Amino acid sequence: AKRSGRGGFRFFTTDYLKAATERRALEQDLLRALELDQFELYYQPVVEARTDRVVAAEALLRWNHPERGLISPAQFIPLAEESGLIGPLGEFALRRGCADALHWPAMLRVAINVSPLQFGDEDDFVKVVQCVLRQTGLPPERLELEITESVFLQNDDKVQRIFRGLKALGVRLALDDFGTGYSSLGSLRQSPFDKLKIDQSFIRGATEHASRNRPIVEATASMAQALHMVTTAEGVETFDQLDLVRAQRVTYVQGYIYSPPLPADVFLTLARDDWTIAPAG
Ligand code: C2E
Ligand code: CA
Ligand code: CA
Ligand code: CA
Repeated sequence: AKRSGRGGFRFFTTDYLKAATERRALEQDLLRALELDQFELYYQPVVEARTDRVVAAEALLRWNHPERGLISPAQFIPLAEESGLIGPLGEFALRRGCADALHWPAMLRVAINVSPLQFGDEDDFVKVVQCVLRQTGLPPERLELEITESVFLQNDDKVQRIFRGLKALGVRLALDDFGTGYSSLGSLRQSPFDKLKIDQSFIRGATEHASRNRPIVEATASMAQALHMVTTAEGVETFDQLDLVRAQRVTYVQGYIYSPPLPADVFLTLARDDWTIAPAG
């Protein structure tokens, strides 16, 4: 839609309207999708960089739309956040993830993504997590909550109180997409986070000549170590990237070089290889 002149403008306008209409239609479908049980969790193995051993899995939502097929969370999570559905949807992911993890060996943790918009007032979210842990019976130390940096945009006292409440339950906290947006180094000073996830935008291109991503990955890894936090490199796809993050003593690796996100039953077949995965670029 990049033609110039009046015709081009009209073309752009219809495109825009079409996109807005699509969006509204999708939002309507989203409201019913939970009731219709159209959401599913895929699990991406989190692998210890030194040993190739699977230590955890990140739960990633998928929407099986009856007409549109599999829809990416990059598309519907923002819609859910705007329409207020993120609360129930997030709780679904939490409950399903904890329940699925009970079928895994006890050394495997499950990581659940949490939107800061799920926090609600006061300690609502802490109560939700406590309730799900009690109902499913998953030991709290097997649950890790991944929270994106945008959490630091919210009221600081409330957020700190929620973090303390979650830590008191015994769950682990990971800071997701580290370095992409809102966190300042000051927020790490008093941080309750056990883990930093180095965003895939830094891993991408980090092995190219004179890349400015590489020193950022190196600095993040050594800073995390000094702060006694573990690290996960996201989006590792090539052997060069794997060598780089191993040399920087990044603790865990998540990426297509080990495995894409898998349906729950396929994830369980990793037991056949004793929960180790050979990297394949
Ligand atoms: P994220 O938390 O940063 O998750 C990592 C994303 O990177 C996933 O995309 C994963 O499939 C993808 N990925 C993993 N390894 C590689 C790789 O080697 N190369 C590339 N190119 N990509 C890789 P996905 O599954 O499409 O999820 C997108 C985002 O949607 C997530 O980003 C997360 O922010 C959000 N999301 C997914 N599930 C949930 C959920 O249950 N709750 C909330 N609040 N957000 C969710
Ligand atoms: Ca995540
Ligand atoms: Ca991430
Ligand atoms: Ca991300």
